[in-house]
Amino acid sequence: MLIGVYGASGCGRGIMPLLRVQYAQAEFVFIDDGPTPERVNGCDVVDWAGFLARQETEKVVSLAIAAPHIREALDKKRDASGIALIEVRAASVVEMDAVEIGEGACLSPFVTLTSNICIGRCFHANLYSYVEHDCVIGNYVTFAPGVKCNGNVHIEDHAYIGTGAILRQGTSEKPLTIGAGATVGMGAVVTRDVPPGMTVVGNPAKPLIKD
Ligand code: UDP
Repeated sequence: MLIGVYGASGCGRGIMPLLRVQYAQAEFVFIDDGPTPERVNGCDVVDWAGFLARQETEKVVSLAIAAPHIREALDKKRDASGIALIEVRAASVVEMDAVEIGEGACLSPFVTLTSNICIGRCFHANLYSYVEHDCVIGNYVTFAPGVKCNGNVHIEDHAYIGTGAILRQGTSEKPLTIGAGATVGMGAVVTRDVPPGMTVVGNPAKPLIKD
């Protein structure tokens, strides 16, 4: 099997070693369409056309790019090619009861998913992030390292949650909601719903006013 890690930058270089452990018998390449070196961390780098041209009969891809909309665009391109997605899951990931998770997740070391959680496609949970009980997370959502997502939080598609952000627990009647495409800045403490597309920062988190 040939595994293509799409993205040879910071995110991809964190994902590649996890896949090497998960699939010790596989071959690996980075896929990157940008100006990258021919080899990164001992692996060849090819562009998408180069990956499609590879002759291996079984080829799979991990989308190792943190930006949610880029991940969705690449997922569509991948889907059209018929090449399957592969899940990345560090050995130290903890998953408790009744967790549903869509295709193509990247779960970094020390991620914890507790119980009764529903997560969409291509979720990225970076180092030490957690998702607590009764959360609902949409498609192409990214957690940077150390995100604390407490119980009864709903996160819509394409939201980006920055390093160390804390999302306050909601209730089953009134979950705390992070809207589609919203960005939560690093270290933010989110105590109220965040509307779609908004960027919030600080403690308590407030809309970012750009100068
Ligand atoms: N990239 C790509 N195809 C695309 C968009 C991005 O190959 O359509 C690559 C881009 O060249 C870069 C990587 O994805 O090497 C993204 O790297 P970046 O440092 O921006 O983000 P991260 O690694 O943190 O996700």
